[in-house]
Amino acid sequence: MGKKDKKVVVVLPCSGIGKVYSALSRETTYELVEKVRPGLATTTCLPLLMIKDPKAVAMATENPVITIDGCFKECAKKTVEALGKEVDRAYEAINF
Ligand code: SF4
Repeated sequence: MGKKDKKVVVVLPCSGIGKVYSALSRETTYELVEKVRPGLATTTCLPLLMIKDPKAVAMATENPVITIDGCFKECAKKTVEALGKEVDRAYEAINF
């Protein structure tokens, strides 16, 4: 497997504004990407997936994806599903 083929785990938090559990989902993502699994996990902006940015879409559709949402509305999970991709794991910050 070449370096180009190396997969990473994409961790996607939701983008809730003024919501404590959404902020918690983002902080958890930073912990995973920067401290727990540096080099193995990465993240991107959820709005980039919403506007179908080609690079962000490729990242999310070609790698395993874990979503962390701030509430039952599951915006991160549904954004990935709207791309035709099932998430590999879906969490809600409120249920950690
Ligand atoms: S999942 Fe809930 S907290 Fe997160 S962006 Fe959607 S509505 Fe806001």
